[in-house]
Amino acid sequence: MALTVVDHPLSQHLLTALRDRTTPPPVFRTLTKRLALALVLEAARTLPWEEVEVETPLERTTGRVLSGDLVAVPILRAGLGMLEAVTELFPEVAVGYVGLERDEASLLPQSYYRKLPPVDGRHVLVLDPMLATGGSGAAACGAIKEGGPASIRFVCVVAAPEGLARMEAEHPDVEIFAASLDRQLNDRGYILPGLGDFGDRLFGTT
Ligand code: URA
Repeated sequence: MALTVVDHPLSQHLLTALRDRTTPPPVFRTLTKRLALALVLEAARTLPWEEVEVETPLERTTGRVLSGDLVAVPILRAGLGMLEAVTELFPEVAVGYVGLERDEASLLPQSYYRKLPPVDGRHVLVLDPMLATGGSGAAACGAIKEGGPASIRFVCVVAAPEGLARMEAEHPDVEIFAASLDRQLNDRGYILPGLGDFGDRLFGTT
């Protein structure tokens, strides 16, 4: 399976606080960023690196440096809550945006914005906290693949089995990182137990 569940106790502690309906937006934003740091660190584990020589104040030794360019693509709008974690960990990252919103009747993703840097040969981190039906994630990965990336990693907070199955069917090469694989979707496409509408909770729009 292409899914890695980041089950570090700190990730789970943060996820529990995000699930809590009483967590207000300012705290929700802070916790999202902290959890995204843990998720992105795990996603970065398999990024390419090379060995280099380095001069310490005492002697010469070898070390590793990450090689290969990184691109982050938050899916608007909820993915924005995870972006700062990536720019702090990887200040040189290029950032693109994909705007997809869910048609509440059909539950299908509608594209309303796309601005991507060159992704040819680069390693892409797609950021979208809720992998629900998988429609937005699959569409975003499809759009990014047009540019010929070296790899795509999909980083989310919670995944639903339905979204995971869709990603595996359409993009089996995309590795997925989540803090939890939840039980199922409800009839409105919300993840159960989930944490509600991530964008609303992040931006205080409920
Ligand atoms: N998007 C959300 O914000 N929450 C869900 O549960 C599903 C999709």
